[in-house]
Amino acid sequence: MAVTRRQFMKVSAAGLAASSVGALGFTGAGDALAAGVRPFKLERATETRNACPYCAVACGVLIYSLGDKSKNAKSSIIHVEGDPDHPVNRGTLCARGAASLGYIHSANRLKYPMHRKPGTDKFERVSWDFALDRITKLMKEDRDKNFIAKNRDGVTVNRWLSTGFFGGSSLSNEAGYLTYKFVRATGILGFEDQARI
Ligand code: SF4
Repeated sequence: MAVTRRQFMKVSAAGLAASSVGALGFTGAGDALAAGVRPFKLERATETRNACPYCAVACGVLIYSLGDKSKNAKSSIIHVEGDPDHPVNRGTLCARGAASLGYIHSANRLKYPMHRKPGTDKFERVSWDFALDRITKLMKEDRDKNFIAKNRDGVTVNRWLSTGFFGGSSLSNEAGYLTYKFVRATGILGFEDQARI
């Protein structure tokens, strides 16, 4: 559509007048609109507290998901931010933690146990029961074979040096405590729990 110079000046003047009204404080309509829009994103989301899984700092995060928890509804995480009430980070997150929504929805994220049979280079999905039974069996076999009850001087040491254990920063204090007790009770010395909780 062709616009004459006169039409252009009229439209510009109208726009200027509107913004001037806003500048003079007549912004009630705009404020009401903003107030309606701002909480919209998280208003109907479910808030879940958790810990960032990336590093040993173990910052607290708030995870927001949609889905009304009815049987056929599929929940979906839509937003992650720092937990202002968490004593570690007080609401802050580094770039990795702030970008954890990408990690959550990554197609490469491992969500279930995988097993590579001897002699093959392919991993296949297995059940948790299978994975836990297999781990338990291998741990017992290795411990039975390599447990050291006494050292060369006959002093009781109860060491198991051929297996190590890896914890994680997402563990709560209670889970970390139980993990520590279990690992030390077996005699394992090689133990890394990342967040040292
Ligand atoms: S937000 Fe950053 S510093 Fe905090 S736990 Fe995650 S990766 Fe570590």
